[in-house]
Amino acid sequence: MENIYREIDSNSERYLEELFTLLKQPSISSQGVGVEDCAKLLAGMMEDVGIRTEILPMGGKNNPPLVYGELLSPGAEKTVLIYGHFDVQPTDPLEAWDSPPFEPTIRDGRIFCRGSADNKGQLFAHVKAVEAILKTEGSLPVNLKFLFDPEEEIGSPSLDDFVMANADRFRADVAYNSDGAMDASGRPILSFGNRGNCYVEINHREAKRDLHSGQFGGPVPNPNWRMMEFLNTLRDSNGRVAIDGFYDDIVPPTAAEKEAMANIPFNEASQLDYLGLQRFDGPENMGYWEKIMFQPTLNICGYVSGYGGEGQKTVLPCSVKVKIDMRLVKNQDPPDIFDKFKRHMEKRGFDDLELKLLTTYRPAKTPIDHPMSKAVISAVKKAFESEPILYPVTGGSNPSSIICDFLKIPIVKVPYGNHDESNHAPNENMVVDLFYKGIKCSATVFYELSRL
Ligand SMILES: [Zn+2]
Repeated sequence: MENIYREIDSNSERYLEELFTLLKQPSISSQGVGVEDCAKLLAGMMEDVGIRTEILPMGGKNNPPLVYGELLSPGAEKTVLIYGHFDVQPTDPLEAWDSPPFEPTIRDGRIFCRGSADNKGQLFAHVKAVEAILKTEGSLPVNLKFLFDPEEEIGSPSLDDFVMANADRFRADVAYNSDGAMDASGRPILSFGNRGNCYVEINHREAKRDLHSGQFGGPVPNPNWRMMEFLNTLRDSNGRVAIDGFYDDIVPPTAAEKEAMANIPFNEASQLDYLGLQRFDGPENMGYWEKIMFQPTLNICGYVSGYGGEGQKTVLPCSVKVKIDMRLVKNQDPPDIFDKFKRHMEKRGFDDLELKLLTTYRPAKTPIDHPMSKAVISAVKKAFESEPILYPVTGGSNPSSIICDFLKIPIVKVPYGNHDESNHAPNENMVVDLFYKGIKCSATVFYELSRL
């Protein structure tokens, strides 16, 4: 790898300038700002390094532009599918940024810009790794396919249908993704799965409009009592979700997964202190990581009704809105969980409340002892000069399930972002050195995976 690493070092400034060009192009999927232009820019940059690239309109309501790339290498036996996303989160609140969100600025060895770490800086590392290998070696040891998602930040609503309809195009032996953050200690992470999600909204209304709580209070019902009565049925006193069948399909961690969890550095006291907590929630007999990786949740994300501002307002609210996310684990199925939620509501006599399904994500998991695991661990060690931490599952959600469950391609995620990347927040940033290490890591991963 020495030649390739040297090539990366001697071109680092140019790589950074090109990343800046990509970062300057807004691509806010939730607002439909610049996504199409960003797809064209990215596709051009991929073509420039020698990747055959196409922009594939995905159909549906917004017809979002997926960027697909392919690089076939003579003699290569393995094909690696790279997943990444080039859309970004909105930038508000603007006044909280120390430099404009789409003007990449270096401070303290970090690139500050929306999308720097999530995910353009990480995605672009793969592209520059290809360039460095082609310049030094002439060809790659693996075939590569690139699936760059234009809608990850809004839940990839078009991806499943599109991949299902075009499955042959995406066939590969293994899949690789870099997103998210490294450990706070600076150690890299390999993640083999993610939780799913079933996000619902519940509305309840009594009167036509908000009313004076003195003039009307008494005969007029307050919708909050009804809503709270319902919410109280969702969980027992031990923190277990009380919906019939909710836990039916979950599977306990394997021996390898238990071992990996035991090796994740964790200090309960300092984590409690870090979060300002006195205790952790949920069943007593279960560890912190098992609750995050192998247990589903039912979480009240928001509750809106009446007046919550300064001082008093004597109001009798007419309506209440509640948002709930259920983080799901293998093998829970989001539509099935939604059905169970709905049945629970009916059985307990709350079918007067209005229930809406907002989004779903399936949980995903690649076995931690899959042969690709060793190859990627070895690559990550070389590039980051540090022993990686293995996460059987991460707590959040992403679209991996379409790759590992539908296309049947094992997928591993190696985050290149710094732990304090402030993704989705003002002053998002990526440590410059991690961008370079990321390029080296991707290049090394391609070689290690070719030997599978
Ligand atoms: Zn994100």
